[in-house]
Amino acid sequence: MDDTDIIGDLTNVLYTPEDIAERIAELGAKIDADYADKGLVLVGVLNGAVMVMADLSRALRSHCTMDWMAISSYGSGTQSSGVVRILKDLNTDISGKHVLVVEDIIDTGLTLSYLISNLQSRDPASLRIMTMFRKPEAARNAVDVAYVGFDIPNEFVVGYGLDFDGRYRNLRSVGTLAPHIYS
Ligand code: 5GP
Ligand code: MG
Ligand code: MG
Repeated sequence: MDDTDIIGDLTNVLYTPEDIAERIAELGAKIDADYADKGLVLVGVLNGAVMVMADLSRALRSHCTMDWMAISSYGSGTQSSGVVRILKDLNTDISGKHVLVVEDIIDTGLTLSYLISNLQSRDPASLRIMTMFRKPEAARNAVDVAYVGFDIPNEFVVGYGLDFDGRYRNLRSVGTLAPHIYS
């Protein structure tokens, strides 16, 4: 499977489209088995989780619905601001529903902690987290993540929904950017 020209901006490809597809299929099967016919609500966190949501939802064989939230965490750089704000709330009521939050990546877990306590206050029947990528700090923290695609090194990665300054989300692979891109 070919990627676009922008793959040349990466110094290191961590995961190919095939690696990602294979892992998504595994997680989809697990999630299917865990939820059976409970009627799952997938809550995607914009914008990064768009690719994961598209692929994970289609890896499920049972019914689900999808809704979206947008929260601010990072600015245009690579440092966590610590400021979390709801930019777009869910369109649907999740009370009494089985909810799975779909995330692109968890770094500090700061964004997620806020989101989870916010969603928990709406009384879902259950609330779990799926993330495609997880960094070491989040793995150490008490962020309880039910489904993890890949545990990755503490490096800034792009691709498969993950951006640098709004770009690289459409890259099919995931990897680290060449230093000249930053400067
Ligand atoms: P946290 O609050 O867990 O520190 O950060 C979560 C958010 O920060 C992610 O949803 C993502 O938007 C951004 N982020 C964290 N690490 C990375 C990374 O390595 N690459 C990119 N592109 N975004 C990241
Ligand atoms: Mg995210
Ligand atoms: Mg970003």
